[in-house]
Amino acid sequence: MAIERTLSIIKPDATRRNLTGKIVAKFEDAGLRVVASRRIKLSQADAEAFYAVHAARPFFADLVKFMISGPVVVQVLEGEGAIQKNRDVMGATNPANAAEGTIRKEFAESIEANSVHGSDAPETAANEIKFFFSDLQIVG
Ligand code: ADP
Ligand code: MG
Repeated sequence: MAIERTLSIIKPDATRRNLTGKIVAKFEDAGLRVVASRRIKLSQADAEAFYAVHAARPFFADLVKFMISGPVVVQVLEGEGAIQKNRDVMGATNPANAAEGTIRKEFAESIEANSVHGSDAPETAANEIKFFFSDLQIVG
């Protein structure tokens, strides 16, 4: 399988509870490498642009409000099959459906405050990485 890069976001519910290190350990234990990382506070415009694909969904306004409610940690993860591997480590969107040992099973508070974002396909990964990082900021 090819080496891929994917975008991860540690969400405000997790930074608030000081879980950044525990979540990064899950990525590293799964064989993913953090090749770029930055702690930032998203603006409303940033969050709306990042989640534009969900603009028509009923939860969009609440999701944006949640994503700007505290700091987030944006990261590029690299590894074999990194996009799917990260989704596997994250677990299902709704923590009630997430498998044992996944980040969302262990840490998520709700279907909205579910601790992590991860790109879902090669094209979205490329676009989401570009949204936050230039090539010079990614060191593999
Ligand atoms: P994922 O993050 O697993 O890829 P989606 O792309 O479907 O999930 O949704 C993006 C984010 O929107 C979710 O991670 C979650 O924070 C929020 N979300 C999704 N579905 C709901 C819902 N039914 N109610 C509230 N928030 C939701
Ligand atoms: Mg998604």
